[in-house]
Amino acid sequence: MQIGVVSERRTTRQIRVGDVAVGGGAPITVQSMTITKTADVEGTLQQIYALAAAGCDIVRCTCNETEAAEGLAQIVPRSPVPIIADIHHQYRMALAAMEAGVHGLRLNPGNIRRPEHIKAVAAEAKDRNVPIRIGVNGGSLDPALYERFGGVTPEAMVESARQELAYFDEVGFDLVKISVKASSVPLMVEAYRMLSEATDHPLHLGVTEAGPPPAGLVKATAGIATLLLEGIGDTIRYSLTADPVEEARAGRQLLEALGLRERKNVDLIACPSCGRAEVDVIDVAQRAMAAFGDRQIPLQVAVMGCVVNGPGEAREADLGIAAGNKRGHLFIKGRNVAVVPEAEMVEQLVEWAEFIHEHGVEAAMARADTAKAEREAAKDRAQLLDAKGDDANHADEKIVEIRKTVNRT
Ligand code: SF4
Repeated sequence: MQIGVVSERRTTRQIRVGDVAVGGGAPITVQSMTITKTADVEGTLQQIYALAAAGCDIVRCTCNETEAAEGLAQIVPRSPVPIIADIHHQYRMALAAMEAGVHGLRLNPGNIRRPEHIKAVAAEAKDRNVPIRIGVNGGSLDPALYERFGGVTPEAMVESARQELAYFDEVGFDLVKISVKASSVPLMVEAYRMLSEATDHPLHLGVTEAGPPPAGLVKATAGIATLLLEGIGDTIRYSLTADPVEEARAGRQLLEALGLRERKNVDLIACPSCGRAEVDVIDVAQRAMAAFGDRQIPLQVAVMGCVVNGPGEAREADLGIAAGNKRGHLFIKGRNVAVVPEAEMVEQLVEWAEFIHEHGVEAAMARADTAKAEREAAKDRAQLLDAKGDDANHADEKIVEIRKTVNRT
């Protein structure tokens, strides 16, 4: 069941970055950026492939020197996803990147400021049908705007985008998407809200310099998710101080969690563990996470600490495993299907997930001895309840004592 928490998406124009549509109702896309030297063609391609495998739809590479542009000429034809060149300071690098065949550009209006340079790039992009992102960044805002608005404000960032758009208009170029990123979440949220009122160009969302996880993940999610839930945003990037594959995974997972993209990889859920746990849930969940990696198995898989409550609590999951008496109880949609040794819990979980993915739930149920699995689970459950008791606080006995005490007075 889909629960409609996302506001209606704001209508934007559509542009194409290579073969990926952005805006105009297209699925929201995930972006990331390589951290290799772009001149290192093999190293950069390796990272691009890893990003694509993690769910990244579009990859950006810096184009900061001639060698980088030359590298792009070799990277673009071998990349599995469209490539955008990131340009700061030197407008000539934008021209060189287009010569290299990139599918899009990102220009920073804060550090490429001469109108004739901006217009030269836009005119060339128009001729070549290459889209440009106007990438306003709170940290590198045009000093004149900083002065005029008394600092980095949402108004100043939106004005920076407007000025750039006006230069593009002069040469009749409109294949544009826009970002107004800041490292402050409230600031970027406000700037994007304002921008979405002012333009119908597609918007690229991000919290810049969010920092290392977990704080960086929290900040980026807070900003991006807030806007997506308001229907704002057409493409997203997590800017983390971490392996960019983590950025791509986070972006993908956010969109899947909000129901904005189809699930691609395993959605691993796990109980938080408690005193009833029969196994180290954190360890099993982490090992399961690593074992599934980026395998494209679009199932929800549960790791639960005890067979007493696990299968019931995770009955909505496609598949799960719960621990009990040194054994793992596998269940499909809450129904016990097999009992495996504790040491094989992760391995068996992956094996069953692959089987379900390939052959479907019915075939998995058909190969299971559910009667035996249910019997064994009931046995372990009963033993655990006997050992720990349904009533760990001995409430019944205490109630008797309390009543005696109250009646005495
Ligand atoms: S499934 Fe069991 S171990 Fe996990 S939180 Fe629930 S009661 Fe505790």
